Amino acid sequence: ELAQRMAERAVDVVKFLMKQGQMMKPGDLIDADTAELIAVEFGHTVKRVTEADVEEGIFDVEDRPEDMKPRPPVVTIMGHVDHGKTSLLDAIRKANVVSGEAGGITQHIGAYQVEQDGQKITFLDTPGHAAFTAMRARGAQATDIAILVVAADDSVMPQTIESINHIKAAGVPMIVAINKVDKPEADPQKVRTELLQHEVFVESMGGDIQEVEVSALKGTNLDGLLESILLQAELLELKANPDRSAEGVVIEAKLDKGRGSVATVLVQAGTLRIGDILVAGDEWGRVRAIVNDRGQQLKEAVPSQPVEILGLQGTPLAGDKFAVVESEARAREISEYRQRVTREKAVARQAGSRGSLEQMMAQARDKEMAEFPLLIKADVQGSVEAIIGALEKLGTDEVQARIVHSGAGGITETDVSLAESTGAAILAFNVRANKQARDAAEAAGVEIRYYNIIYNLLDDVKAAMSGLLSPER
Ligand code: GDP
Repeated sequence: ELAQRMAERAVDVVKFLMKQGQMMKPGDLIDADTAELIAVEFGHTVKRVTEADVEEGIFDVEDRPEDMKPRPPVVTIMGHVDHGKTSLLDAIRKANVVSGEAGGITQHIGAYQVEQDGQKITFLDTPGHAAFTAMRARGAQATDIAILVVAADDSVMPQTIESINHIKAAGVPMIVAINKVDKPEADPQKVRTELLQHEVFVESMGGDIQEVEVSALKGTNLDGLLESILLQAELLELKANPDRSAEGVVIEAKLDKGRGSVATVLVQAGTLRIGDILVAGDEWGRVRAIVNDRGQQLKEAVPSQPVEILGLQGTPLAGDKFAVVESEARAREISEYRQRVTREKAVARQAGSRGSLEQMMAQARDKEMAEFPLLIKADVQGSVEAIIGALEKLGTDEVQARIVHSGAGGITETDVSLAESTGAAILAFNVRANKQARDAAEAAGVEIRYYNIIYNLLDDVKAAMSGLLSPER
């Protein structure tokens, strides 16, 4: 690539490197200093381009205040497992569909929009705080308001506390939804008191965090929750300029057999239109279709609207930012640059992990630390990241999950052979193995376990890990 850019023959660059004592072939990576040395040696002038140079003008378009228009809030629901996050998301969705869009078929695209008092609210329905964290790790802040769900019959639990910490770290305003108040053993007051210990001061206890008692099961007071969200949103004065090229964040993405790359994106500024050329993470493409959470084809999407888009060349990652650019050439340039950065980071990580693997082995020898190799496949990248995030937390000083590979999509023969060579078990979340993979797994004695509930997956891993610690069991 460097040779090409200098309009030299690759073989000459390789020869030059050989003279320097570096054996390399075309396609190998060289570091920036070596590249500079080569370029100068071949008589070129070097200008170091930083990430900021390449990306300038894409993500930092200044909007004039008078162009800013109100936009709906984007809400994430978090809380302990089984406290009713999914039930609440489903109940709200069922009860409130954006008017004029009735009749559409509900599509689970990772986010949806409802309407309350003529105002729209966007809900992200990716599972729990792991997705929230994965997005934040990529620098994407998609959430305006977080709903902390606490079941009134169970009160504050470990993942409630984790959620509180994540919400606070993100600096996102919180609303507490005390759920399951229909249960005879429900004790909402206990929830309020216990929250105090974690510095969540709800209004009835003299604080300024709104709290709402709901029952997702019975559909009780969902309106109250939505009202609270709108009230909070009003205080935030959420605005975006719809009259500019679109930018936003990828909620999830997958490869669909029939439709190719399908990405759910949340527009955060501007208006996204069919035909727009878009860069998302390392990938780019021309928007071929825009589909909403009702399965309806749209011509455009406005700020805070979540939509599925078709037309990307590859599959971006959950949390990747996207932006519309002016030309294919520009899109290609940016995505090539980013792919290069990703590759370089991977190389650096590999170099780093060799070190840490040695450390780990030394540690294992000292402390007899056990490792639990796993290969994770899931339907969408968002789930993959949620699972890995949760698995990492399961580890203790004595035993750790080691993810040998992970990705979105069905299980293939390649996965099986990788699992075989690393001694890993394959965990499949909402995906199946094809016939070749099943046969190969059987022949190789590789275990494939299927799940459609993350919690069950984690439970099994936990059990297996403790089994590792006490082999006599
Ligand atoms: P999540 O793990 O937080 O997504 O929790 P789920 O939405 O899957 O709910 C866990 C269980 O609690 C399910 O069996 C629900 O039917 C039940 N559940 C959720 N909300 C309520 C509620 O308001 N009242 C009662 N009685 N049960 C509920």
